Amino acid sequence: MRKINLFLSIAAAAILAAGCNCHCCQCCEGEFSPVDYVNPLVGSLSDHSFSTGNTYPALARPWGMNFWTPQNASNGDRWVYTYDKRVIRGFREIHSPSPWIGDYGSFSVMPMRDAAFYHENERASIFSHLTEVSKPYYYSAYLADHDVLAEMTATERAAIMRFTFPDSQTSGIVIDAFEGEGNVFVDALNKRVIGWSTVNHSGVPENFRNYFVIEVDKEIEDVTVEGHLAVLKFKTVRGEKVCLKAASSFISDEQARENLRTEIGTADFDTICEEGRAAWNKVLGAVKVESNDTDALRTFYSCLYRSTLFPRKFYEINRDGKPVHYSPYNGKIEDGYMYTDSGFWDTFRALFPLLNLVYPSVNEEIQQALANISRENEFLPEWSSPGHRNCMVGNNSASLVADAYLKGNTDKKDVEDLYRAILHGTENVHPSVASCGRLGHEYYNTLGYVPCDVNIRENAARTLEYAYDDWCILQMAKKMGRPESELATFAQRAGNYANLFDASSNLMRGRNQDGSFQTPFNPYAWGGNFTEGNAWHYTWSVFHDVQGLIDLMGGEKEFATMLDSVMVVPPIYDASYYGFRIHEIAEMQVANMGNYAHGNQPAQHMLYLYNYCGQPWKAQKYIRNTMNVLYRATPDGYCGDEDNGQTSAWYIFSALGFYPVCPASDQYVLGSPAFDKIVVKPMGKHRGKIVIKADGAGKAPYIESMKLDGKDWSHNWVSYSDLAKGASLKFTMSCEPNCNRGTAEEDKPYSFSRE
Ligand code: CA
Repeated sequence: MRKINLFLSIAAAAILAAGCNCHCCQCCEGEFSPVDYVNPLVGSLSDHSFSTGNTYPALARPWGMNFWTPQNASNGDRWVYTYDKRVIRGFREIHSPSPWIGDYGSFSVMPMRDAAFYHENERASIFSHLTEVSKPYYYSAYLADHDVLAEMTATERAAIMRFTFPDSQTSGIVIDAFEGEGNVFVDALNKRVIGWSTVNHSGVPENFRNYFVIEVDKEIEDVTVEGHLAVLKFKTVRGEKVCLKAASSFISDEQARENLRTEIGTADFDTICEEGRAAWNKVLGAVKVESNDTDALRTFYSCLYRSTLFPRKFYEINRDGKPVHYSPYNGKIEDGYMYTDSGFWDTFRALFPLLNLVYPSVNEEIQQALANISRENEFLPEWSSPGHRNCMVGNNSASLVADAYLKGNTDKKDVEDLYRAILHGTENVHPSVASCGRLGHEYYNTLGYVPCDVNIRENAARTLEYAYDDWCILQMAKKMGRPESELATFAQRAGNYANLFDASSNLMRGRNQDGSFQTPFNPYAWGGNFTEGNAWHYTWSVFHDVQGLIDLMGGEKEFATMLDSVMVVPPIYDASYYGFRIHEIAEMQVANMGNYAHGNQPAQHMLYLYNYCGQPWKAQKYIRNTMNVLYRATPDGYCGDEDNGQTSAWYIFSALGFYPVCPASDQYVLGSPAFDKIVVKPMGKHRGKIVIKADGAGKAPYIESMKLDGKDWSHNWVSYSDLAKGASLKFTMSCEPNCNRGTAEEDKPYSFSRE
């Protein structure tokens, strides 16, 4: 009788929750609940040769320190969850920002009907996506081989798992701290497991550990501990629920218990699940979209979810209620905020500008974290996970720092330290992490470019990004009132992009020390002088001075022809630098957009450049087409690596109708607003509400006309200053291009050489 009642109560709960499809919440009719549109599985149908996002379903709180995911790959596999696999091996605390960078501080938990078989292959159970529920705040799967329903919900640093067991004399749960890297101890009397994980792929000091604590609400009858594995054994009756509460800390075992106490304490599964749902609705609800197109809403909010996960919090709250952190830069416990897991080469472009616009208080904390990093070591990170990682190029921390400062999101006490750190980066390179600071700065600061014959790879990409970074430094220096001589230095260096311009091809090209261009030159060659792209992709990396580039190319007409060319040539490529077709190339080919490679970052701003040459309607056409074709809320729904919010933030901005072509400038460049109505209410600081209306935009990609705060607006940009005060943008959309709007000289967006 008891068994039947328990079974019925599960069924009843499932029916009640039909609105949001999770087993813990009751949804109210009519309530605006953007989290219900989110599909965390978007991008998970990926492998090393082809990326549809390279994401995993992250069960988390926004920017949470710990994410959790079902693990369906083997323990060492960096593609921890991919949609094509048939089994689940565990439920894992995960910090991986990307399979290329790898995971750290991880461990997993798995329920079993027969606890005698607990190794990762033995315990794996088949499952189906049909009975899987994945929400940002809730995950469940039916583990058929164990007849166990597994459910998870999470806080920022802790989680509750609820396992509904069958009748079994041999039930159990295994805790896997991963071979050779972790340790685990069982205190059966107190129903508690403690342990640590040292899993990492560099970027940590010697003393790095993630300490975890796990408590179960079931009497443990027997225990097996084998190295990094601990098995808790008990008897269950059909429908019996066993709950497990877990938390971790990068600081200490004691702090892990503190995180568990403050974030979960005595709260039950459903309470934490409801809290998670509310936390996501608050963050996602900062952008309220109105549309009848449910698929488009799913795409939008799935992208907004991806834009609000990284960089993650890497700080904890101590007993006095103060933020403290383990520093992955000096190995010490330090006061204040810390954030990590972002590659600025990707995320300076749109993700951080999105935080500045919509989540300013979050970016203010991140800037405090960057200032802390500048005090804990000499260099700002370029790729952190959790400490410095040697990955990608550029010195784009300058863009993050300058953009936040100019938009009022930097604490006064941090400004001098941050500025000193970005200056340091212009004349130094980290002794062991070559992507921190500026590799080739000696050449760049004297010749005006990093030459291609001095054994520094991706030299042209570095030069172009350093020049933009120097322009960012100039903007910050101006506002800080720095000396004229310093301003002059950075103003001069901001023009260094021109040193790589080859008039014979109208493209950026590698250049030797003696000033000659590299020969032979194949503009379709990926890598070499460029980073994961070719000359056609990188020529546009003059974010701050598009007019300067137009002038170099011989005028607007030639510039527009060059843009057109990228879109209409076949997707031909030369991969000889890599020796194989890298996944980014394959993703460009299949998009059927010529040589436009939206699946990677270098050219993601390119379509917006039609606004600088008198042909804004072409920007509108191609941008809308990219949104429609290359973004979907399905497991194969990204056109390449999602990259910690960057590719998603492109979609969010594009849906709003504008994009930060040049972060640290005051302007956003217009595109094609995609929804009937969007209301942005910036979170956490006093900023005005932004109302964007574009009736019928779903079927009409072109801007016929536009009003800003009720007045006609002919420019191809809107300013941050106007939006921050609160603004109303009203677009009249059309199915036909208006070839007269936005064509005047004064309609063009900002360029440095027009100052
Ligand atoms: Ca990428």
